[in-house]
Amino acid sequence: MALKLSLGGRKALVTGGSTGIGEGIAMALADAGADVAINYLNHRQLAFDVVQQIEYRGVSSLALRADVSKASAVAAMFEELDNQWGPIDILVSNAGIDGPRALAWESDPAQFERVIATNLFGGYYCSREALKRMVPRKSGVVVSVSSVHEVIPWSGYSAYTASKAGLGMLMKTMAQEAAEHGIRVFSVAPGAIKTKINEQVWSDPEKRADLKEKIPMGRIGSTKEIGRLVAVLASDAGSYVTGTTVFADGGMTLYPSFEHGG
Ligand code: NAD
Repeated sequence: MALKLSLGGRKALVTGGSTGIGEGIAMALADAGADVAINYLNHRQLAFDVVQQIEYRGVSSLALRADVSKASAVAAMFEELDNQWGPIDILVSNAGIDGPRALAWESDPAQFERVIATNLFGGYYCSREALKRMVPRKSGVVVSVSSVHEVIPWSGYSAYTASKAGLGMLMKTMAQEAAEHGIRVFSVAPGAIKTKINEQVWSDPEKRADLKEKIPMGRIGSTKEIGRLVAVLASDAGSYVTGTTVFADGGMTLYPSFEHGG
């Protein structure tokens, strides 16, 4: 039987869905037939543009403003979703920041806290609200957008690496808890993807060349490549995937400095 990737009739929420990887994921889910709500923080116009592009694909969409680092704002966003659409089938917890570059001992604790609050607490608050609604229905998929920095240390970004590593264990624990309720929980970890978050790297020829050295496939990835992967894994094609992080990084986690032995 041919494999059909269909999310027809499913409802998804993508946090940070108005830009970059979140937008790529929202489009891929919509292409596969899901209704897709996007959460945004500051980019109201971009959010409504994305809603329009999703609707062009013949499915429904919504834009919901909420700061994911605030538990009460996340709870209110899910209540609004309940009122407008009823329960969702797929959560993609994607919103994230990397914070200012600083060595750990020179960093500002307030900035460290902001990164952890957005990436780790934000992931927890959104997953918690989604799981509360999925458990009684005995079905659902919770996806976290992690990073290669879940496992690769990154000088100058200790809060970011700590948040993504923390998300990894949060994801595994939630997967263990939710499996018996028919719910899958996993992470997708991108390598270097061309978005706003790393514009200072890909827009500088020297930094871009240095980055490519770190990628065995020799190129930066696209938001489309991450979006398609999430759509496949969130669909029934990924029905046996839970409690794991799937890396999509052109081989960045293969320790490329060892590729010629040594
Ligand atoms: P991006 O800056 O375009 O996207 C981040 C989105 O999160 C933005 O829309 C932003 O407004 C939103 N956001 C930030 N704080 C928020 C908050 N408190 N509440 C709600 N929304 C908030 O960058 P991106 O590269 O698309 O990043 C998306 C995710 O992918 C992040 O979790 C990031 O860590 C991860 N990631 C990116 C790369 C990459 O190379 N671009 C690599 C690995 C992981």
